Amino acid sequence: MSSLRRHRRLVLAFLAAAGVMAVAASPAVHGRAQDAARPAGSTYTGKAFTFNEVAPGVFHAVGTGALAVGCNASVIVNADDVMVVDTNLSPGAAWALREEIKALTPKPVRYVVNTHWHWDHAHGNQIYGPDVTVIGHEYTRAKLAAGDSTRGRSYDMFITTGLPARIADLKAKISAATPADRAALQTQLSIAETQLAGSRALAVAPPTLTFTDHLTLVRGGREIRLLHLGRAHTGGDVVVFLPKERLVITGDLLVEGTSYIGDGFTADWPATLERLRALDYDVTLPGHGTAFRGKTKIDQFESYLRDFRRQAEALHKAGVPAQDAAAKIDMRAHAADYPAITAPGVLWHGVARVYEELEGRAQ
Ligand SMILES: [Zn+2]
Repeated sequence: MSSLRRHRRLVLAFLAAAGVMAVAASPAVHGRAQDAARPAGSTYTGKAFTFNEVAPGVFHAVGTGALAVGCNASVIVNADDVMVVDTNLSPGAAWALREEIKALTPKPVRYVVNTHWHWDHAHGNQIYGPDVTVIGHEYTRAKLAAGDSTRGRSYDMFITTGLPARIADLKAKISAATPADRAALQTQLSIAETQLAGSRALAVAPPTLTFTDHLTLVRGGREIRLLHLGRAHTGGDVVVFLPKERLVITGDLLVEGTSYIGDGFTADWPATLERLRALDYDVTLPGHGTAFRGKTKIDQFESYLRDFRRQAEALHKAGVPAQDAAAKIDMRAHAADYPAITAPGVLWHGVARVYEELEGRAQ
């Protein structure tokens, strides 16, 4: 497989894993609501989210594919108010979540948590007004305030360059498609164009309340602990821990598949995962993928990370440029834990990141 094709395959696999890739949406159920209050990028048909109730009043909000939403959100319905964890990839997606929460509860959203600064978790913040407290790590606020969520290799691959390229690709496919395939492609195109419109309406809104170590909220009978357990997927990951419900919301610190490494701190990440393991819980609501029980995935991802870092470090020592090294790194030993791994080669972003760490340039 050529490196270009390999790169494309990796990108597509990552897009799918990240829930960014629009699958053909189910046909119209409720019709296309016309509402002047809708922000750009909120046009969709049917439902944008499925709400899986994992404990009384605690929901994992997973995208249906009808709208590009980026990450999973979580919704915690308290005695008098609602907390939303992560605001998805655009004001339109965040608006859709808030609208669909109305079917769960009439209580208002009063708290929003950003698990970290990435665009697919924090670019919906702007829809929340001054009556809502947006909470995040101090590092998350600094990154968002500096504009870092709208530039860099990840944003470029998925949005700045990647999204217009995908739209052009879909248009070319539609013009060559058979009538039978055309409708599904047309739906994908409409979802991608909606996402582009949403990304253009972005006004980055950093958290309005920050912390560096931990912050506890008690809302009615519910205790919500916000914990920074150390650097991992970013320098400011927040885990939301509900001790009574025995569940954690992990953002991208631990996901169902392999997490994005391109902004990570791979030397610290395993120790941070050990601090996660030390919490007393059963269920994990990850930022991408399906919720899962138990702590086996901690073992699996630590093993993956250590191997990734070891291979990248050896190639760095040998003077191999990051892009070439990415093609050589072979993670197939982890294929039993991560079935998406079918061939050698990794997304170069993670290798570039390990190089930055080794050269003292990781921030
Ligand atoms: Zn992330």
